[in-house]
Amino acid sequence: MFMQDSVRFPHRSNKDGSFDSICPACLATVISVRNEQDLPRHEAVHGCDPLRLAQLGQLMSKRSERSERPERSAAETSVS
Ligand SMILES: [Zn+2]
Repeated sequence: MFMQDSVRFPHRSNKDGSFDSICPACLATVISVRNEQDLPRHEAVHGCDPLRLAQLGQLMSKRSERSERPERSAAETSVS
């Protein structure tokens, strides 16, 4: 499912000149460093928190359920 090798971690530059690496799977800030070149080795050893992943998965499924039912309001109005 989640291929660690092929994943790209988005990098975020901060106002203080440091760089954050964001895990695209668990959305956690992996590390904040001064040199962006240091991020890949930290990303390589990052392990996602299974609990956080599970919570995110629940959030995602709830969101997709809602977005997949745009006809809900229309159905409610037609019933009444
Ligand atoms: Zn992660």
